[in-house]
Amino acid sequence: MKKCPICELNWIDDNEEMCSLCQQKAVPTPTQGHNPKPNVHFNEIFTFKSGDYVYDGKRGFKAYNSKGEHVGIVFMTDDKRVKAYGYCELHFFPNYYNSYGVWHRIKSHGSRIAWVTLCNYLKTHEEYPCYIDDQT
Ligand SMILES: [Zn+2]
Repeated sequence: MKKCPICELNWIDDNEEMCSLCQQKAVPTPTQGHNPKPNVHFNEIFTFKSGDYVYDGKRGFKAYNSKGEHVGIVFMTDDKRVKAYGYCELHFFPNYYNSYGVWHRIKSHGSRIAWVTLCNYLKTHEEYPCYIDDQT
């Protein structure tokens, strides 16, 4: 037997490195604070404006929130492995990560919006107002 070298209080076997109490403290417990995904909420009307726009390697249209703030870009989900391929996705500016996250594959009233639908609409309209649901 020897004393735990960390707390110097508890007795441990000679082949142990620390007592069970110190072991508990040594293992980092996962906390919600380490979760990088912010708690985001939608249920808000966004507006997509016509005109070619490029941000962070994505080509699409400017996206505005219900306050009229330019919050990022709407573009086509280009990952062919996912169900959302060919539909609209939002990518936000870093200032809005806390409010909206980084990416959001949008649904409007439960349905995805086809990219081609948005493109065709914005050929003849300046703006595409769009209610965006909370769930992807
Ligand atoms: Zn100890």
